[in-house]
Amino acid sequence: MHGLLNVVVALLIILFGFSLILGGRRGGRRFFRLLTSPLGCFAGTGRFLIALVIIAAGLLYVIKPGFFVREPKWYPGIIHVHSTFSDGSDNIAQRAESAKQAGASFIIITDHLDQLDSRDKPPAKAGRIANPKAIDVGTDNYLSTFKNLGVESIVMIPGVEVSNSWGSDSAHTLALGSLDASVCQSLKSTGSQAATIDIINQHSMSVAAHPNCTSKLTFQIRAWEKGRFRSDTSDPNVCANVKGVEFFNDKGPAQTRATLRWYLSLVGKHRDVFVTSGCDSHGWKEPDDLERWERKTWVWTDNPTAEGFLDALAKGRTYASAQGSYITEMNYRPGGVQSVTSTPTFSIKLVLPTGIANAMRGSSAAMYRDGVEVLSSKRTMRSFGRTMEYSWTDTEASPGLHYYLFWVKPYIVTSPIKISVEVSKLP
Ligand SMILES: [Zn+2]
Ligand SMILES: [Zn+2]
Repeated sequence: MHGLLNVVVALLIILFGFSLILGGRRGGRRFFRLLTSPLGCFAGTGRFLIALVIIAAGLLYVIKPGFFVREPKWYPGIIHVHSTFSDGSDNIAQRAESAKQAGASFIIITDHLDQLDSRDKPPAKAGRIANPKAIDVGTDNYLSTFKNLGVESIVMIPGVEVSNSWGSDSAHTLALGSLDASVCQSLKSTGSQAATIDIINQHSMSVAAHPNCTSKLTFQIRAWEKGRFRSDTSDPNVCANVKGVEFFNDKGPAQTRATLRWYLSLVGKHRDVFVTSGCDSHGWKEPDDLERWERKTWVWTDNPTAEGFLDALAKGRTYASAQGSYITEMNYRPGGVQSVTSTPTFSIKLVLPTGIANAMRGSSAAMYRDGVEVLSSKRTMRSFGRTMEYSWTDTEASPGLHYYLFWVKPYIVTSPIKISVEVSKLP
């Protein structure tokens, strides 16, 4: 429908262009003269050239509408990276270069807030990366570097990683976008994680970084919402205001499971929590650094600027991927509510890492409705080399709003896909 309208508008533009030529000629048709009379002051070659430009624009509009109106699409981004402003080995420009090489459209660097003003940066990753005496010091310096760098062909967005103490360990929360020195100052003087999340949410977006960790004391896995915040263990809702949950930055399958469980519980309560993929690179010397840059956060937008990417995150138009996998087709997307009048059927096509697709045969892909796995009989999976095709029909969806999410262990997870199932009027 929209496409047809575009073509009609384009044809009218082309007709106007031709009428400029025809109407301008001596003895030209009266209809065309009338149509183009406002441009009567132009004459001869000038008029002819204007007409040609208008016709060319009309043709371009038919052939390639995206030339004038940018169509929305998925853009890959890198979120959660460290630089020489905290315990990373590369400076901000070098980090942007790495993100470009990884094929990202944007990068959100999140240095440790408590290390920004320090001249003695701790060596990253327990001494694996030797850090020279820091030259990148100061919160103001950090924030202004983003403004002044002007690295081409990648959008750079400032963020910080905030630590809150938990026993001998610490819980980490990312703050993405819209930061200034005063926000950073108030974050530095905050004690509790709940307060940290609230302050971040007033100015930017809070994301639970590597939500599950192994405690240095007990080596037990603790849920981020409970164990990582010792004083708040009695209240499972204490971190529920968090806007995003990071995936693929936990250390093992058990921790990934724990993160998924927590995320499903939030989505099951219809909380609008988006997913991100945690790169968390500290430098190229790390053994798993290349794999980290394959952890991408994809956002759906028609505005590929810092504002556009942050807005898409805020609206939950995201999915997280790891090891170079990505979605190519999706009939319902994460983000705003979409209405259906019959049982919802989801079809998703994606590309898995080389060599994985055959081994996997789609067995570990799942669709969840309100936090519970959809075990529909109409569930199909087909594989074409690296491309996998999935389809679910949720025959048991009751009327009303449902939050779905799609999960392929451990390569893809989506933000909530919100579907409103409408009751069809019975006679
Ligand atoms: Zn961290
Ligand atoms: Zn980190």
